[in-house]
Amino acid sequence: MTHMSSYEVVVVGGGTAGLSAALVLGRARRSVLVVDAGEPRNAPAAHMYGVLSRDGMPPGAFLAEGRREVRAYGGEVVQGRVTAVRPDGETGSQGEFEVTLDDGRSVHARRIVVATGLVDELPGLPGFAERWGRDVLHCPYCHGWEVRDEALGVLASPVMGAHQALMVSQWSKDVTLFLHTVRELPDQEWRRLAAAGVSVVEGEVGGLVVEDDQLTGVRMADGRVFPRTAMFAAPRLVPRDTLLTALGAETQDTPLGPYPAVDPTGLTSVPGVWAVGNAAGPMEQVVNAASAGYRAGAAINGELLFSDLDRSAPDGTDGQAVSG
Ligand SMILES: Cc1cc2nc3c(=O)[nH]c(=O)nc-3n(C[C@H](O)[C@H](O)[C@H](O)COP(=O)(O)OP(=O)(O)OC[C@H]3O[C@@H](n4cnc5c(N)ncnc54)[C@H](O)[C@@H]3O)c2cc1C
Repeated sequence: MTHMSSYEVVVVGGGTAGLSAALVLGRARRSVLVVDAGEPRNAPAAHMYGVLSRDGMPPGAFLAEGRREVRAYGGEVVQGRVTAVRPDGETGSQGEFEVTLDDGRSVHARRIVVATGLVDELPGLPGFAERWGRDVLHCPYCHGWEVRDEALGVLASPVMGAHQALMVSQWSKDVTLFLHTVRELPDQEWRRLAAAGVSVVEGEVGGLVVEDDQLTGVRMADGRVFPRTAMFAAPRLVPRDTLLTALGAETQDTPLGPYPAVDPTGLTSVPGVWAVGNAAGPMEQVVNAASAGYRAGAAINGELLFSDLDRSAPDGTDGQAVSG
């Protein structure tokens, strides 16, 4: 039998949420391994905004600093992909796991944090993927300020309807909503669009016009072109939850589809397994993901502490102090 490395906690995913959990755990003197495939969601964006004291920092530099901080407390951060998390058959203890990496290595973990993020499934229109995070945007809180007062377009989405266009109208008075495949809007949305001064274009969008590496317009399927310098679109937000579903974790329905069911600390329905950040919620921005990681890290430290104390408490002490 080969000896398996053992950690108190393995964190799957080294984005903001996972590194934040690892930082708290390392500072609580827990042994932590972070396995990270290195594809954070905001990688296509050159700058990250709305993060107090780090506003405008490149996302890659932010995570590099996070890895440095985790390592300073003894945490290990490795590049790789976790392919499976299974209950550890050898120890047989509830909440203990065998974690398999894509290099074939397996490690033992007492607790698991799944911080794998989500996948943005973009509208399959020409140009959207290439411009994603640059001048095709999804979140006005992240990048609205940078395109304020510009000629903005919004692609209506079957789930969000006109909501995004109404939000974006806070950042510019020149907003056009492209209905694309959305055929109907509620009367209230039409009234709000009129009140916000949002223009509405019916008909399907065919793609984007890009000149000198800059978005200049939206081309309709019928050939019409509307000059626009930035476009907002709502991707389908799909959690990377295959490790959780394989463990039998329950999901809950959200307006954006099923997400892992978690308690306020991120604990899933599987004892010993936490899910944080975008893996557990589609609306988590960087600071929220960091906060979720922190909460999970603190909860795991407490849970390990008390479960170990309860296991090792001498019989017959009946809650009284054993020394003194
Ligand atoms: C284009 C764009 C721009 C954005 N800009 C901003 C902004 O300006 N401000 C802001 O607050 N938010 C922004 N966001 C949102 C931000 O990206 C998320 O809030 C944040 O990334 C969530 O952190 P996370 O740790 O949950 O997930 P992620 O950052 O996505 O990290 C998850 C990590 O887990 C890894 N992983 C996945 N599966 C595995 C596996 N099986 N094994 C090992 N590793 C795995 C991934 O490779 C990735 O590195 C933006 C999002 C997008 C799409």
